[in-house]
Amino acid sequence: MKVITYISNVAVGIFRLMQGMYVAMLQMIRPKVTEQYPENRGKKEQFERFRGELIMPHDENNQHQCTACKICETNCPNGTLQITVKSVLDEATGKEKKALDTYLYDIGSCIFCALCTQSCPQNAIEWTPQFEHSVYTQGKLVKQLNKEGSSLKSKVKSDK
Ligand code: SF4
Ligand code: SF4
Repeated sequence: MKVITYISNVAVGIFRLMQGMYVAMLQMIRPKVTEQYPENRGKKEQFERFRGELIMPHDENNQHQCTACKICETNCPNGTLQITVKSVLDEATGKEKKALDTYLYDIGSCIFCALCTQSCPQNAIEWTPQFEHSVYTQGKLVKQLNKEGSSLKSKVKSDK
C-alpha cells in the first residue's frame, strides 16, 4: 500500500512539474509586451480611456464650457479641486451672474477616480494621456485649468 502511495505521489509530482514547465515554455514563445520606457517616450501611446491628467479644453477664442457650478468640486472625495467664483455683468440681461474665476487642480492628491468628469453637466473637463508628472516642488503639482482671460463659451453665445 505504501509503495502505491509513493508511486502515485511521484507521478503527481512529475505531472505538476510538467505543468509548470509548460507555462514557462509558453511564456518563452509569446511575443514580448514589455515597454522600453523611457526609450519609447516619443512614440508611446496610451489606451483611449487612460486617465493621465485632468484638463479644461479651451477653444480658439479662449472659451471653455465651465459654468462654475462646483458639482465636480463637491463630488471630489479628497479636495483635489478648488474652484473660486466671481461675479460678472451679463450684458444680455444687465444682471450680475457668477462665472469661473480660478479652477485649481492638485494632481498630487488626485486618485483619478473620474467622479469629477463623470458628474460635470457641461463636459467642461476631460482627461489627457499625459502620465509624466514629476516635479521638484510640491507646489508645481497644483495647476490652474482655466487659462488667463478665458470666458464661458455659452455666455458669449447668449451675448450675440
Ligand atoms: S479624478 Fe477623483 S480625485 Fe481626481 S479631481 Fe476628479 S474627483 Fe477628484
Ligand atoms: S467643471 Fe463642470 S462640474 Fe465642475 S464647476 Fe465646471 S461645469 Fe461645474
